[in-house]
Amino acid sequence: MAYLTLHGINKIYPNGFHAVHDFNLEINKGEFIVFVGSSGCGKSTTLRMIAGLENISKGDLLIDGERANEKGPRERGVAMVFQSYALYPHMTVYDNLAFGLTLQGVDDDVIDRRVGSVAKILGLSDYLERFPRELSGGQRQRVAVGRAIIRKVNIFLMDEPLSNLDAKQRVTMRSEITQIHRQTGATTIYVTHDQTEAMTMADRIVVMKAGYIQQVGTPYDLYFDPVNMFVAGFIGEPPMNLVESRVENGMLDITNNPIDPSKFADKSVIEEYEGKEVVFGFRPEAVKLAEDGCEPADSFKMTGKVELVELLGDNTNIYIDMYDANVILKAAPHVSPAPDTGVEFYIPYESCYLFDKQTEKKIKVKR
Ligand code: ADP
Repeated sequence: MAYLTLHGINKIYPNGFHAVHDFNLEINKGEFIVFVGSSGCGKSTTLRMIAGLENISKGDLLIDGERANEKGPRERGVAMVFQSYALYPHMTVYDNLAFGLTLQGVDDDVIDRRVGSVAKILGLSDYLERFPRELSGGQRQRVAVGRAIIRKVNIFLMDEPLSNLDAKQRVTMRSEITQIHRQTGATTIYVTHDQTEAMTMADRIVVMKAGYIQQVGTPYDLYFDPVNMFVAGFIGEPPMNLVESRVENGMLDITNNPIDPSKFADKSVIEEYEGKEVVFGFRPEAVKLAEDGCEPADSFKMTGKVELVELLGDNTNIYIDMYDANVILKAAPHVSPAPDTGVEFYIPYESCYLFDKQTEKKIKVKR
């Protein structure tokens, strides 16, 4: 049985704004779930409804099989970590960690043991006498996480906990939070707008847009089988290239280059879309640049003009004008074609995606 069930959850704010629409999700005990989407899509609102910080306008929230809509935040057995660390500036790390337990009247020696063990998990043992202002951003965020895990709750809710950290600290804390999750085994819901965080941390990702769930799935599912153009364009770094095209006389016309779609789509699909607009998708990392005259098998050739080359260290992003469609190719770091030169590349049939231009939904292709 699901540990946490969100059934037809809606949020309509007092000003009438409908922020979350029919949110349905079952979360298993111990799962690490990430809500991801652009700013304003309803991630925090949904998290806050689970926490009991916002009331649920419509729908049912079940925690461990029991309806929790009317329960207060404390009764729900959840702990929340916010973007702002919300530490008490005048208290030491020890007191910040101990505060919740002290309020509950827990014995001093029990508190001491729990603070000691949480500090050990988080690598804070040497900092217990320091004040928040004497810590780095990453250390402060660890104290904030520690304040949540010390309460030994069953559900952790984290709202963009890494957004105040610099890029390097974010990468470190990302793996630390994943490890803490592995150690505590607590069901975790984590909100972020960063698809890399979602992809690296989640057991399952919930992609949201404008208050609606777009897709729920493992990182692998979302990367290889996005249900629509929004998910395809959101997941991946850089995201999937999406190029407007058309099915004409059984051929797929990609920027005036006719391609035989029967290599990757069924005949019935091609017939259904005859004369219609579709969107052709391929991932930047799926292409092979034409080098040394060798032609990869089961691929088709496209050409374009190099507009910009970005060397990122482990790879190069090549921005290309492909007959007025802007696409990005991911290549090896040593590949560095000059701007304004022509480039030829191959797209494997097995890496081709099609979307319905009207509905933006995926069109089934052979895999
Ligand atoms: P996210 O976390 O995905 O950035 P939020 O859940 O914070 O998005 O907000 C979702 C939408 O609800 C936004 O358009 C936001 O402006 C709106 N919103 C948030 N809080 C309120 C409120 N108290 N009253 C009215 N609208 C709100």
